Amino acid sequence: MTEPKVTVYGAYWCPDCRRSKKFLGEQFIPYRWVDIEQDPAGESYVLQKNDGKRIIPMIVFEDGSFLVEPSNAELAKKLGLKTEAKQTYYDLIIIGGGPAGLTASIYASREGADVLLIERSGLGGQASITVGLDNFPGFPEGISGQEFSERMTQQARRFGVEILQAGDVERLEMEAGYHEVYTSDGKHYHSRAVLVATGASYRRLDVPGEDDYIGAGIHFCATCDGPFYKGAKEIVVVGGGNSAVEEGLHLTNFADKVTLLVRGDRLNASRIAMDKVNEPTSRIEVKYNTVVEAIEGQNAKLKTLKIRDKKTGEKEELHPAAAFIFIGQLPNTSFLKDYAELDTYGFVMAGHDIVHGKQIMGMEPLPFETSVPGIFAAGDARHGSTKQVASAVGEGAAASISIREFLGRSEAILA
Ligand SMILES: Cc1cc2nc3c(=O)[nH]c(=O)nc-3n(C[C@H](O)[C@H](O)[C@H](O)COP(=O)(O)OP(=O)(O)OC[C@H]3O[C@@H](n4cnc5c(N)ncnc54)[C@H](O)[C@@H]3O)c2cc1C
Repeated sequence: MTEPKVTVYGAYWCPDCRRSKKFLGEQFIPYRWVDIEQDPAGESYVLQKNDGKRIIPMIVFEDGSFLVEPSNAELAKKLGLKTEAKQTYYDLIIIGGGPAGLTASIYASREGADVLLIERSGLGGQASITVGLDNFPGFPEGISGQEFSERMTQQARRFGVEILQAGDVERLEMEAGYHEVYTSDGKHYHSRAVLVATGASYRRLDVPGEDDYIGAGIHFCATCDGPFYKGAKEIVVVGGGNSAVEEGLHLTNFADKVTLLVRGDRLNASRIAMDKVNEPTSRIEVKYNTVVEAIEGQNAKLKTLKIRDKKTGEKEELHPAAAFIFIGQLPNTSFLKDYAELDTYGFVMAGHDIVHGKQIMGMEPLPFETSVPGIFAAGDARHGSTKQVASAVGEGAAASISIREFLGRSEAILA
């Protein structure tokens, strides 16, 4: 593992420290965390750098320079992330830089469209945190999610896609036939077509204590945070689906034992993964019918998971080094609520899912077009998508071809 090039000095009670850590985590920037309450040398260093003042978070970079209490925008600038677009108008704005968004950007830009892609976290989306992509055609030995994402990003840049990072799209509006895309930093950009490729986010347990220990024992990404627990006696994984089982298997690389807490009475994963769990040499213990009721900590770190057996009512306390939660996902589509048609879970309705219901302004929507003309959806955020990298890539490519047709039609109308 490469040594982190950024060090965050802070304390467990400091909300700005948590915000900065969250931001770095979202941008996939590895960092070293020094809790100055626990580390006298770290505290002296902060005092020395700040004329005797105990100001945190203090974030120190590879070249020795540092920022004190930076906003996310200052942090993004310091990290060299591009946060402002060159133009205000584009043919196509793509929201989300996962496999679907990046693929669509490559297709559209290669055909000469002016494309702006806006991504709020790390480029590559969920694919970038996948331990290893074993099922993407063309990589017989598999490829790490991170390398796959870097390759897609390089390809998009090669075709001239303009990429904004740390840009969180908050709302869409329509003005004189153009779409307006608003980001959380108050900027907005216009386009004739928009692709929503915002994927989905991790579902939380919503139990007391969960929020307090995120990043301090509670995690959602084994690839990112598993190595922190090398040599641990026990790690807990919550969930019984494919992600939980696969990530649990991966975590056995770091801990002596992984305990899988499954809400139901069976696992719901691929045969291969389940067979690995059931091998006699497996270091995974599965507790079925088990729910987490509360999370407690000590010294700003996770200490206890309070669990209950749903069948017997028996309660137990576990003291793992960390708990990784893999219990499903929620679509990142809140900015479309009351704007475009969503299903009951918030996934975007598009293409023939709308044709079956209604037509858009008397015309059948193009494949991947949503209930708002000119706004398209592809990948995990779309209703009915299959939640795989290969299908997100395929949807991104197919959506870009619909968008080409839409842009051609609008040009004909404008001419
Ligand atoms: C742990 C894990 C392991 C997986 N393993 C595999 C595997 O082995 N094989 C496989 O095929 N699939 C796997 N998947 C699933 C696969 O990664 C997803 O299906 C795929 O990444 C979906 O692509 P997407 O582009 O639709 O969305 P995402 O990858 O979710 O990308 C969406 C992007 O949009 C951004 N975004 C969201 N909202 C906004 C906003 N408002 N403004 C700006 N940006 C926004 C997000 O930050 C994100 O980067 C795995 C997923 C996970 C979580």
